[in-house]
Amino acid sequence: MKGMSSVEDVGRCRPERLEDVSGSDPETTLSDGSGNEMYRLIAELYPICRSITGQGIRDTLGRIQQHIPLTISEVPSGTQVFDWKVPREWNIRDAYVADRQGVRIIDFKQSNLHVVSYSTPITARMPLVELKEHLFTLPDHPDWIPYRTSYYKESWGFCLSHRQYLGLRDEEYDVVIDSSLQDGHLTYGEYYLPGETAEEVLISCHACHPSLCNDNLSGIAVATFLAQSLPSRSRRYSYRFLFLPVTIGAITWLALNQDHVSKIKHGFVITGVGDEGGFTYKKSRGGNAGIDAAFAHVLRHSGESFEITEFIPYGYDERQYGSPGFNLPVGCFMRRANGRYPEYHTSADNLDFVKPTSLSRSLQVVQSVIEVLESNSRYVNTAPYCEPQLGKRGLYRAIGGNVTGRSAEMALLWVLNLSDGTHTLLQISERAQLPFSTIKLAADALKGQGLLRLAGEAVESLGNQE
Ligand code: ZN
Repeated sequence: MKGMSSVEDVGRCRPERLEDVSGSDPETTLSDGSGNEMYRLIAELYPICRSITGQGIRDTLGRIQQHIPLTISEVPSGTQVFDWKVPREWNIRDAYVADRQGVRIIDFKQSNLHVVSYSTPITARMPLVELKEHLFTLPDHPDWIPYRTSYYKESWGFCLSHRQYLGLRDEEYDVVIDSSLQDGHLTYGEYYLPGETAEEVLISCHACHPSLCNDNLSGIAVATFLAQSLPSRSRRYSYRFLFLPVTIGAITWLALNQDHVSKIKHGFVITGVGDEGGFTYKKSRGGNAGIDAAFAHVLRHSGESFEITEFIPYGYDERQYGSPGFNLPVGCFMRRANGRYPEYHTSADNLDFVKPTSLSRSLQVVQSVIEVLESNSRYVNTAPYCEPQLGKRGLYRAIGGNVTGRSAEMALLWVLNLSDGTHTLLQISERAQLPFSTIKLAADALKGQGLLRLAGEAVESLGNQE
């Protein structure tokens, strides 16, 4: 068996820390409904045979369009995009290996993972020894089918379980791959939602893997439902969602939008957010961007285990957004990182591997991150000489609800003390060791009583530069 490499490689991030945290943020708890809806979208998209070009990704974007008004772009094959060329378009109708009795023993129609993505067409009869040169299995997981691609080298192949491979009889086989590799287009989807300013938050996910649920579809589902939730909230920022083929899609988008990227102030790639593992956030290239501070804070108060890893130029499209010419503040949000779970890039990354609750909690995290980005302002205490008397103003009641009395009091005191025009609400949250939402409630209540006013303009950077 030969090895083929996928463009998206196995990550080897070293965790900076791994913490179990308590004190989850109750303000943003979602109903289970959103998890079930995201799961239904995944189940709908699961059977489609996607690749980096072709009808599969078009059909996928068409289904996402039923949820959000995506603009779909078609970029012709051969278009030069930096050091790359948009590849020819690949489409597949059928593929199988049949035995001497005509029985399809490997059948694309049973699982689209059976065919190496971008396989060139073939119709041939060959002995087992020759066929084996084109077969790929996972000996360590003998019941799983691996996911393989050969985008940039013309080749063909089949993937199958190792157990089935070991049972192949030494005879001749009919091999058919009814595919085409022709000039066509690379397709991607984009959803732009304007806010009060033209400064943007970029959310990017890949939509090019076939029947793989966590790596691919979970990111699509959470991004789609995040996009759906944004029009109803106030927005200082504009939002751009990209659904594209990994690597070549991001390179193409960046090449076509080079003059635009200076508007991107925060961003993250999202994928692998439906499994039951703890969260992983991989920092942006700079490592101290506002998006890094926002994710670190939200995860610390998420109530789930998490790790924050440093940027490495490996993994998903954060490495394109974080190439030195762009150096965009774009991190990557996952649960278990790519390559760090055995089901990764196998048929075991299926509908059983992703859970509605995990999807729902992942959506909750990214919504909390957006809330931090949107609401992270600096304030000035209008009564800075000693503490104002809080009880007589009904302030504890104003931020009551799920916030306990002690946290409410401490939040009010911290906001009043540090609102000298130099501290952001996120910095105050970190100093107070309280969730951003609690600090924000305190700031809103104090503002309502005239005890705070906004200091100058919106905050450019959310980093902790105290
Ligand atoms: Zn992948």
